[in-house]
Amino acid sequence: MENENNTATVSLVKCQDYDDPNIGSAIDKTLELIGGIENYVRPGDNVLLKINLLTGDVPEKAVTTHPSIVRAMIHQVRKAGGIPLVGDCSGYEGKPNQKRYLDACRSSGIMHVCEEEKTQIVHLSAESVEVKNDSGRMYKTFILSKQVMDADVLISLPKLKTHGLTLFTGGVKNIFGCVTGLNKAKMHLRAQDPETFSQMLVDLLGTVRPDLTLMDAVVGMEGNGPSNGTPKQISAILASSDPVALDAVACRMVGIDPFMVPSTRLAHEQGMGTGDISNINIVGESLENMQIDGFKFPSGTASFFRARGLMRFVRGMLLAKPALVKENCQKCWICIEHCPSGALSEKEGYPSFDHKKCIRCYCCQELCPGNAIELKTPLLARFV
Ligand code: SF4
Ligand code: SF4
Repeated sequence: MENENNTATVSLVKCQDYDDPNIGSAIDKTLELIGGIENYVRPGDNVLLKINLLTGDVPEKAVTTHPSIVRAMIHQVRKAGGIPLVGDCSGYEGKPNQKRYLDACRSSGIMHVCEEEKTQIVHLSAESVEVKNDSGRMYKTFILSKQVMDADVLISLPKLKTHGLTLFTGGVKNIFGCVTGLNKAKMHLRAQDPETFSQMLVDLLGTVRPDLTLMDAVVGMEGNGPSNGTPKQISAILASSDPVALDAVACRMVGIDPFMVPSTRLAHEQGMGTGDISNINIVGESLENMQIDGFKFPSGTASFFRARGLMRFVRGMLLAKPALVKENCQKCWICIEHCPSGALSEKEGYPSFDHKKCIRCYCCQELCPGNAIELKTPLLARFV
């Protein structure tokens, strides 16, 4: 592995619940361990708190960044004299759609917190800019939120979750939400396998790097994440200026080898962060004290399928297939709108899959608001 000399610091603090004042003091401690919020925010800075909003599920489902974390971070930014703003380019919106975005902010509890704290919610998909990164290995141009690029400070607030395509989603994946509207679906179409998709994330990290990442791992998600999994008590908050190192520590905590997550491995190899646990200075709790046993991975876990260019028919036989759970379908057509390969269409009043066209990106499962898409593991994959 390259990049052996790179080091990073990650703070790790125990936090059992989202209640005040526990959450506020746990976040304070997490940040103090890496120099305090003043290390990242100066008076007068516009500070964008980039949440993970996804479909705007209620906090109990552990899909979105918990509103109590957002509240505590608003307080932190103000403590340093900064001006907090809260936002995401939720994939749920499809084409930029302010109403749908605000509905998701409302249902997730984020809007309530922002109203109480008199903090502006920013619709990040509203305006886009093309941003170039000549040093990107595969992807050199991204269509990103103008508000993200205009912010003085970007603080990313991911949730610890599993992911059907990339096995794990955390700090690195959360920046994918800086890509606006349906440009996300276009990126999925260009980056169909986990390796290519992860390289895209690493190139994106080289284009828009958060100044600070603070992870909500009080209650994370196991199983079929990032939206249909099961909430899992993890009781941790992590923070770092290096989202790659943060992901590595989070993975190790739940029993995932960090280098099984391709974005961590590729970012480490390419000097975009530190994925090697032995080079990460973990401050606060020790990893040994925070181990989570029996953490469940996604069904048909993508960990077997890292190889680039895996032949289509082999993929078809091994990768989990999305399937409709008719009784849960709300006929919102978000899945059809987002499917990057045109594998979904309406038939007899329901979404219908063309599995030959399906590239197994699992966007439909991720964005379905009704838990109406499940992942079915093919027989051969179960055997493998
Ligand atoms: S499957 Fe989900 S996303 Fe698709 S139409 Fe039904 S409820 Fe909407
Ligand atoms: S059907 Fe679902 S998993 Fe398949 S390409 Fe479309 S969005 Fe991706």
